[in-house]
This record gives sequence, C-alpha cells and structure tokens, in this order.
Amino acid sequence: MIFRQESIEEIVANIKRMGGLEACPICAGTNLLADQRPMVADVGGTQNLQDSATNITYHLRVVCDGCGYVLLFDAERHRSGDHPLFERV
Ligand SMILES: [Zn+2]
Repeated sequence: MIFRQESIEEIVANIKRMGGLEACPICAGTNLLADQRPMVADVGGTQNLQDSATNITYHLRVVCDGCGYVLLFDAERHRSGDHPLFERV
C-alpha cells in the first residue's frame, strides 16, 4: 500500500502553506524526500492487544537526504475531501 501521488502532493502543499518543509531543522539541507510508503503506527495498543482506545494512524515520512532526519506528519490531518489516501501496488 502506498500513498497516491495526489495525496502526497496535497499533504506536502498543506505543510508548505504552514511554513514547513523549507529545510531540515537539523542540517538545514533542502533535499527533503517524501516516502510514498506510509508509516503505520498502532496507538494505544497493537493488533493483538487492543481495546476501545486503540487506533491505527498513517504518517507521511519525509527524510532529509543530507543527515537522515525523519519528519512524520499525520496524513489524516492534511487531508481534504474524501478521495482515497492510498493505492495498492
Ligand atoms: Zn538534515
């Protein structure tokens, strides 16, 4: 499963509108790469240990090509409309 290209463009544009993703906060490098593969996180439990507070969140992972610093953005917070975020490969 990967982010649709349109989803990545929407998320990145939204973050840039807020002033983010101009440069790496560690090395000031400007080659920041968005990974098309979502980072999936279990929150409040796991698939085998879950209750009503457990959730799964999907993050866009942006990696600095210079130093490897990783920025994570909750994809659902940057989504507009109800088009699908992902596609299967
Ligand atoms: Zn960096």
